[in-house]
Amino acid sequence: MRGIEHIGIAVADIDIAEETYAKLLGVHSYKREVVESEGVVTSFFRVGDVKIELLAATKPDSAIAKFIAKRGEGIHHIAFKVKDTDASLNQKNELGFTTINENAKAGADNKEIGFIHPKSTHGVLIEMCSDKKD
Ligand code: ZN
Repeated sequence: MRGIEHIGIAVADIDIAEETYAKLLGVHSYKREVVESEGVVTSFFRVGDVKIELLAATKPDSAIAKFIAKRGEGIHHIAFKVKDTDASLNQKNELGFTTINENAKAGADNKEIGFIHPKSTHGVLIEMCSDKKD
């Protein structure tokens, strides 16, 4: 792991949350991106070396909609920078962590991502995140 890439926050309304975080952080969101396959709209802020990723559901069966229904708004995941998401998924799997994804998938912001289940990390959903290879 090469540091924290971003912190993902589940929000009910992307417009309202974007305003709140722009006010809080003193910077505007630099990118808004829909990830159709995940049923989410994301909005990114830069704070020093770390990013804040706001996530709102775009459809009722999205993982973010389910998360908010169950736990309310709040921190959804911590994303760590890795060199190669596929290799990291394999390695963490071999170390006994429960990986949610067998292979890296396309994430927002030109990243390849994969998740480790919170049941193997004391309740925190962990994302591993590397730059897209192509
Ligand atoms: Zn993320």
